[in-house]
Amino acid sequence: MSNVIYTIDHFAKILDAKSFISNPELKITRLVIDSRSVIDPENSLFFALNAKRDGHEYLEDAYANGIRSFVISDSRCLEKFADANILLVADVLAALQSLAIIHREQYDLKVLAITGSNGKTVVKEWLYQLLAADFNIVRSPKSFNSQIGVPLSVWNISEEHTLGIFEAGISKENEMEALEKIIRPTIGILTNLGEAHAEGFASQKDKLLEKLKLFKDAEVFIYSPEYTLGLPVSELPGQTKFSWSLKQKADLQISFIEPIEDRNYVRAIFKGAEIECLIPFSDRASVENGIICWASLLSMGYSPEEADARLEKLTRVGMRLELKNGINQCSVIDDSYSADTSSLAIAMDFLNLQNQHPKKTLILSDLHETGRNEVELYTEIAALLKQKNLNRLIGIGPHISASAALFDMETTFFESTQDFIDHFPAVHFNNETILLKGARKFEFERISKLITQKVHDTVLEIDLNALAGNLQFYRNKLQPGVKIMAMVKAFSYGSGSFEIANVLQYHKVDYLAVAYTDEGVALRKGGITMPVMVMSPEPSAFDAIVKYKLEPEIYNLDILNSFIGFLSADAYDYPVHLKIDTGMHRLGFKEADLKELLETINSSRKVKVVSAFSHLVGSEDEHHDAFTKHQIERFRAFAQEISAGLGYKFIWHISNTSGVTRHPEAQMDMVRLGIGLYGYDGGLPKKNGLQTAVVLKTTVTQVIEVKPNETIGYGRNGILPNGGTTATVKIGYADGYNRRFGNGRGKMLINGKLVPTIGSICMDMCMLDVTGITVKTGDEVIVFNGELTIADLAEQIETIPYEILTNISQRVKRVYFYE
Ligand SMILES: *Cc1c(COP(=O)(O)O)cnc(C)c1O
Repeated sequence: MSNVIYTIDHFAKILDAKSFISNPELKITRLVIDSRSVIDPENSLFFALNAKRDGHEYLEDAYANGIRSFVISDSRCLEKFADANILLVADVLAALQSLAIIHREQYDLKVLAITGSNGKTVVKEWLYQLLAADFNIVRSPKSFNSQIGVPLSVWNISEEHTLGIFEAGISKENEMEALEKIIRPTIGILTNLGEAHAEGFASQKDKLLEKLKLFKDAEVFIYSPEYTLGLPVSELPGQTKFSWSLKQKADLQISFIEPIEDRNYVRAIFKGAEIECLIPFSDRASVENGIICWASLLSMGYSPEEADARLEKLTRVGMRLELKNGINQCSVIDDSYSADTSSLAIAMDFLNLQNQHPKKTLILSDLHETGRNEVELYTEIAALLKQKNLNRLIGIGPHISASAALFDMETTFFESTQDFIDHFPAVHFNNETILLKGARKFEFERISKLITQKVHDTVLEIDLNALAGNLQFYRNKLQPGVKIMAMVKAFSYGSGSFEIANVLQYHKVDYLAVAYTDEGVALRKGGITMPVMVMSPEPSAFDAIVKYKLEPEIYNLDILNSFIGFLSADAYDYPVHLKIDTGMHRLGFKEADLKELLETINSSRKVKVVSAFSHLVGSEDEHHDAFTKHQIERFRAFAQEISAGLGYKFIWHISNTSGVTRHPEAQMDMVRLGIGLYGYDGGLPKKNGLQTAVVLKTTVTQVIEVKPNETIGYGRNGILPNGGTTATVKIGYADGYNRRFGNGRGKMLINGKLVPTIGSICMDMCMLDVTGITVKTGDEVIVFNGELTIADLAEQIETIPYEILTNISQRVKRVYFYE
């Protein structure tokens, strides 16, 4: 989107690349790293980055999507495409970064840069909200703050921009230098410094010093001395400095913070006078982020009155896309809070990755992008929607309606949200995925209410980014070429069916595994086309297995014979997976079965063994390491004999989640990931880099004052000897909150405080002792999250995290998030 014109030839020279160019004058306007997201393929340059996977694997996809220009590092890919422009470099990431550096150098732009452990994206978005009236701002899309995200963000700078706001995140040493060169900040903002030092740093101080490198040439540095670890001011970056603090003397010295309903009133001393502001949020993190924005405005010369007036209007950063159940068998992706082209592209990707319904509809409001002409803007959007195979567009607002002719699909337009609501009965929605995307002022939450089902007050939130992050966490531990089978049995450990599977399919997992045939059928109906293994293929379901191209696990001779018997006479090489018993003694072939197993398979060519596997009984526990080794050896020997007897190779696998982390020598050809994807691994210490993917929440229905010695709940088990306060919450054993959590064994989090249950757990509700804590009806209650974990809950009732997750009943609504 740059308006400096670059040609491919120009890039070849800048990068000093060995190049093979068929069209030297070709203009490059877009840098692309994902072969699936291409808007204008002809003028896009694809970087084969070694990120989640080796980008060279996606060259063909990118080519098929119309891209003809590539930056690669593997010379073996040179001859792939005769009519393409190929730049061969030593390091593809470094090439991407150097183009961003060159691009940044073209503009003499004021740039705000943000780094820190938390809050970067919120501070960036809020500064955008606060400053948009005075500047034409270019900013990082979403949380694009990595070694790859930063160059892509900076690439968006163009002529008309008067201010840049970029965030930079690092995870190990020596990463900031490159980002500094790309961003070249005028004003630097340090949000905070997390307590634990991240894996990639020797100490807190090292982490801080690395972060501060971003600001080495900044004119102004905005920070709190609480996060600079006592470093003398003379060692801090920035020609001038602006500090804020809750505890010590500072340029903005906070003296008083008081919550008023859902907001916080803050007073401070600034230039010797008392000033104040209202931060329209109640949680602690938001107040801190608000103060950082306050400091930024003041240091930029805004008057305290003006700063206060602007801060008061801050709105929550709607970063999460929610996937909910809708009316008439629809799924709804709700993103009613932001609308710009880059967030639209991300939301469209999410829409495309949900394949459960044949039809995809977008409800989109007018977009406003300062400095862009409308025809250009809507032409780009129309191209994006077409490229993403959208079936139907419902446009709301005068501007998008005026551009109706640009859209090449089924369309309906409405002048306003009210106009849509008035006509709602006549707009049909049925069995489709609907993406709702609107600028704030269009109040799309009103539409959301009409098309989504009401969510019961207890919800299980599934963070699909965390799930993808955990997948990547394990992928990083695998030797090259090792495949992944993701276990999505038992409704993906309680967290969902096709919603989860679609994400795993998108992230190119190799196999999925379910327990029963009907789970596999549900996945096929939900748009899953990748191989699916069924672990308990009951003979009554063989026809469904074949009809839906599912692959049975064969665990004994009976099931082998009955499956072969079931297959039609002309069946040939139907894929099956052999389960070997090496010590679990649950299901599986034993050495004694070998001869008959081989004879049966060899004499009928109806089935083909695509994999053989066994299951470890104690991979997470070092007490069982000797037995684990024994299982691994026994499996290898057995699999070897089967392979020799059949005369062909197949995939070998034995590792589950903790097997991957604790027994790297047993990765073989594939690993089977289960609970690790959801954020728990019994083989790892508590702080381990996995992300919490599943959060269970409920709400307070009533708050009650109880007198000394009154009893609470069934059986009169609960008692507060001195009296106190209880809160009744909407979760009971029928939701999966085990009765054993009763009488104080279980704890929940209310407003940041850990409180015990009191009395017995009822079927649909339970009571908490909230004596001394401010709680009111409607308050959110955390049953488990990243702080109060499923491992903590398992400990409270002496079970395992697996059971906590899978017990959550189906009546608890699942809501999926994607950023
Ligand atoms: C459930 C299951 C797994 C996954 O185990 P995790 O410990 O959750 O990773 C692997 N293999 C088999 C056969 C399973 O049944």
